[in-house]
Amino acid sequence: MPELNKGAVQRLDAAHHLHPFTDSRALRQKGARVIERGEGVYLWDAAGRRILDGMAGLWCVNLGYGRQELIEAAHAQLQQLPYYNLFFQTTHPPAATLAATLAGLLPGELQQLFFTGSGSECNDTVVRMVRHFWAQQGRPERRVIISRHNAYHGSTLAGASLGGMAPMHAQGGLPLPDMVHIDQPYHFGEGQGTDPDEFGLARARQLEQKILELGPERVAAFIGEPVQGAGGVIIPPASYWPEIQRICRKYDILLVVDEVICGFGRTGHWFASEYYGLQPDLLCMAKGITSGYIPLGAVAVGARVAEGLIDGGEFFHGFTWSGHPVACAVAQACIEVMKQEHIVERVHDDIGPYLQRRWASLGDHPLVGETRGLGLLAALELVADKTTLARFPEAAGAGLVCREHCFEQGLVMRAVGDTMIISPPLVISREQVDELVDKARRALDLTLHTLS
Ligand code: PLP
Repeated sequence: MPELNKGAVQRLDAAHHLHPFTDSRALRQKGARVIERGEGVYLWDAAGRRILDGMAGLWCVNLGYGRQELIEAAHAQLQQLPYYNLFFQTTHPPAATLAATLAGLLPGELQQLFFTGSGSECNDTVVRMVRHFWAQQGRPERRVIISRHNAYHGSTLAGASLGGMAPMHAQGGLPLPDMVHIDQPYHFGEGQGTDPDEFGLARARQLEQKILELGPERVAAFIGEPVQGAGGVIIPPASYWPEIQRICRKYDILLVVDEVICGFGRTGHWFASEYYGLQPDLLCMAKGITSGYIPLGAVAVGARVAEGLIDGGEFFHGFTWSGHPVACAVAQACIEVMKQEHIVERVHDDIGPYLQRRWASLGDHPLVGETRGLGLLAALELVADKTTLARFPEAAGAGLVCREHCFEQGLVMRAVGDTMIISPPLVISREQVDELVDKARRALDLTLHTLS
């Protein structure tokens, strides 16, 4: 490819490229930010500026940029067998090996893997699997899937419908039928002044109310992210997940856990289901499975649903990229590096607690109403008044102001409304955590200045 300067890239981009989750008119006026290179936890833009990637790309580049083990695994597999499909009773070594490796990492009875190309495709697969499963059990009326408002489960029709993002539903008449939502366990945003555990129980019990309202005989499954990521790193009160699991069991509703962000060490466990004591029937993973180097997703299927599917004849579902051999080889290399370098243990015992301590120190800033986090996920809430915790008016765009100041400081931090969130690569060092927190504090100071 010919080398293009920044202006040329921006011109081509503005002329021909429609971006995901982007206001295209604003982008065309301003010109896209051009990222050219990555190494470790850093990115370099086209102006040569070094930026600390506090979001690990989109919550995925867990091993950081430039890992030779992953690059070499892709190269070797491209030479050996760059593509073959898994349809019609065929397999290849990378898919079979990775399925077995994942089965060894997964909690409980999740021993069967169905490969996809993304997190969204995992959730589409879940919808088709659970409905097919219940139909096989002679219960075809069990079709409804219950999710949460402000959940994120992807951008396909089923993913966006299962998700609870109002602006996504508003475009294109979503959600699809038989996908309904209960309230999220967001204590800072929706439970101020209540006891967190009481609030968590009340939010979980909405599941029971919804099941009874719909009729238990119609409900197929409940789906949730252990920690809501894109919704703003919402960490549920301790009371929440045990109650959800109890209710699912009481009404024989399948429990689907979307670990697309939480999986592969993000919370200090291979899967957050371990942390929350969850025994899901189905578990979705993507992103960190290859450290984001190449697209891959997988749905792990528990014994009960797997037996139903195995006995159910041909399952008419699959993707050209299901279990792509190069992606599987990279995932295998990624998991091996994680094991060799004890990445999960490091997040649990060392760098996770260190980041949480340093992040909590931002709580004294006049703009910060709350800090929270788990493993290498963290959030802070921007408030106009630290005593009453009142928010800024929406028109002030406080989160976006702060995000821009972060970029100026050389830090990627994401804004969800006025919630600032981070999810850095799991290989971040203590010095780099210090740099992240120092830059975040400077950005907060500048935000305060801009907004006052
Ligand atoms: N599920 C969760 C929890 C996610 O955070 C995401 C993406 O951020 C998805 C699903 C969708 O994954 P993808 O963008 O790979 O389709």
